[in-house]
This record gives sequence, C-alpha cells and structure tokens, in this order.
Amino acid sequence: MLSHVAYIEDDSLTAICSNIPNVKDRGKLVHRLVEAYGLFKFMKIFPVIPASRDDLVSFHSQSYVDFLFEANEWSDFEQREDDQLEYGLGYDCPLFKNIYEFASLVAGGSLTAAKVLVDGDAQVAINWCGGWHHAQRDEAKGFCYVNDIVIAIHKLRERFDRVLYIDLDAHHGDGVENAFSFSPKVMTVSFHNYDLGFFPCSGAINEVGFGAGKYYSVNVPLKDGVTDEQYSWLFTGVMDLVKTVFRSDAIVVQCGADCLTGDPVGTFNLTPHSLGVCVQKVLSWQQPTLFLGGGGYNITNTAKCWTFLTSLMVGQNLSSDIPDHPYFLRYGPDFDIEISVGLRKNNNIPSDLKKIVDMISTNLSQIL
Ligand SMILES: [Zn+2]
Repeated sequence: MLSHVAYIEDDSLTAICSNIPNVKDRGKLVHRLVEAYGLFKFMKIFPVIPASRDDLVSFHSQSYVDFLFEANEWSDFEQREDDQLEYGLGYDCPLFKNIYEFASLVAGGSLTAAKVLVDGDAQVAINWCGGWHHAQRDEAKGFCYVNDIVIAIHKLRERFDRVLYIDLDAHHGDGVENAFSFSPKVMTVSFHNYDLGFFPCSGAINEVGFGAGKYYSVNVPLKDGVTDEQYSWLFTGVMDLVKTVFRSDAIVVQCGADCLTGDPVGTFNLTPHSLGVCVQKVLSWQQPTLFLGGGGYNITNTAKCWTFLTSLMVGQNLSSDIPDHPYFLRYGPDFDIEISVGLRKNNNIPSDLKKIVDMISTNLSQIL
C-alpha cells in the first residue's frame, strides 16, 4: 500500500467553498467520488488547520486582510461599496457572510497540505479545494478571494529552497506569477488560453519575469480547441526544458479542470487523459509535490477528472462505471468516468506550437 499520499478533506472547508461562484457542491462531489472508488484507503486524510492572520499577510496586504475581517459578520453587503470595489469584491467575487473565515479555511487547506510535505509526513499532498491562482496581494479576482497557492509556496520554502509551480488551468496563473515574478527561487510555468479577450488577458510568451526573476516566469499561450495530443506534447517538451535549467526541491501543480472539454468557461478540447500525462510526468520526478484544484465549472467532469488524477497518485486503476454513491444520479445518463473528446474547432497549428517551444528554449537558455 502506498501511504505517502496525503489528502485534505474537511467538512467546514468543503461547505464554505460552495460560496465561490459557479462551484456549488463541487467539493462534495469530488470527495464522495474519490471515496466511492475506494481511494481513501490508500491515503492519509488531514483536516484543515485554518490559516492565521500572519499566514494571510505573508502574501496579502494588511488592509485587504483587515477588510475581510471587518466584513466577516456583515449581512448587509451594501456598506463601504467603494472599498469593496477597490478590493475586487463585486462582480465575479461578491462578498458573502463569513468571508474572513472562508479566506482562513481556503488558505489553511493548502497551507496544511504544504506543512505535511515540509514535515515529511507524505511525498504527495492533495487539496482539491485549493488552487485559487488569480487572487492578488490586495485584490480578489476571477472567483479567487485568497491566494492559497502563494501562501502554500511560502510555507514550502521554509524547507525547500527552489519551488517549481505548474499551472494547468485554462486561465493564466497571474496571481502566482505576479507574486514571484522577481524571484529566481520560484519558477512559474502556466499553460493557458491566450486569445483576445480571454480572462485575465495576460500570460503572453514574452512575459518572462523581472530583475533577478527574469526568465523564471514561463508562459505557454494557446488558442481555442487544443487537443490531448498537442497538450501532452507541449507539456513534455516545455517541462523537459524547464527541468534542465531549474533544479526544483518541491513542486506545486494547479490542476484547474476548466481546461477540459465541456467546461462552460474554458475553450479547449482536453480530456483527463492529457492531464494524466502531466501528472504522471510530475510524479516521475519523485519530489515532494502539492496538487491543487482551481477552475472547473462543469462540476461532474471536474469530479471525474480529479478522481482520475487521484487514482494515478495512489497507483490504482479505476473501473469506467461510476460506483453507486449519494451523488450517483448526477453522472447520468452514461454513468461513465470517461469524458468524450471535444469537437471544438482547433486553432492551434503545429508550427505555432513548435515556435512556442523554441521560444521558451531560447528564453530558458538565458539562465543557464
Ligand atoms: Zn480557470
């Protein structure tokens, strides 16, 4: 039995994550499907230690954290509207009751997982309720109120000098990249859609970081309709280059499932198979690794994907039939863990993808 995998599951975190726009009940579906496939017996389950104020301000500004604290008990969300807008609280990040408690638990989930790795209690840690990569130092953004990833990386760096961050979400991992864009100790690599008007409209290939961190930000900009085959080829090519120049001591992977076909926000043709190729490659490096969730707005596809990825981490095969469990009926009409390939028009032509790899190779050669 592989006992080196830790899994964060905590009812309070799962419940409070339903406040995030468009992911209602997602945590419950994920945990119950992982459980129904019998994967819990191959992992050690950890409850969440909520993040302290000091943990939150290890990345976020004092004033942003103070505002979340003040708003925690509000039931009338029309007060201090100008401040709310200044902190990005509105539109896709509306305030809700217990917002500070939420921030503390969301950050705490990934922080607890990072602590497990720092303490050497597991080689792999999973927090599917984490991965909120758009949150900025003093601003909520894109469904992300607190950047649990940056806070977790800070914790990892207490023991691991160099951390490699890989972002598979359909959207650019802007919050994490911005946090470390001046640092040569944290390399960020983001694979994402970079089409005109696609949120957050950043992550071009020439965005490479600044100062001592120049060339330690790597961006892989893609167009609509990328396929499993192309994505797997790109991931392998780019990460082989990254690993030759950056000797990581620990790894964080954001597995945002809005890159899958059928996502209401994403635009790719991917199935969990290509994310599985990515996860297998990361696991083959045998380094302390934190796997996080992120986007994923087709709730059942996201639960299928993260359950499949969990099975790879514990070295188990899944039967294609969804097992009977409390959310079984949500997986109709086929009740199958597989997701059919997408048929969206593919605007990624092979020569462009080759150019992306060549350009990244040139950029990374600057830090050899
Ligand atoms: Zn996303």
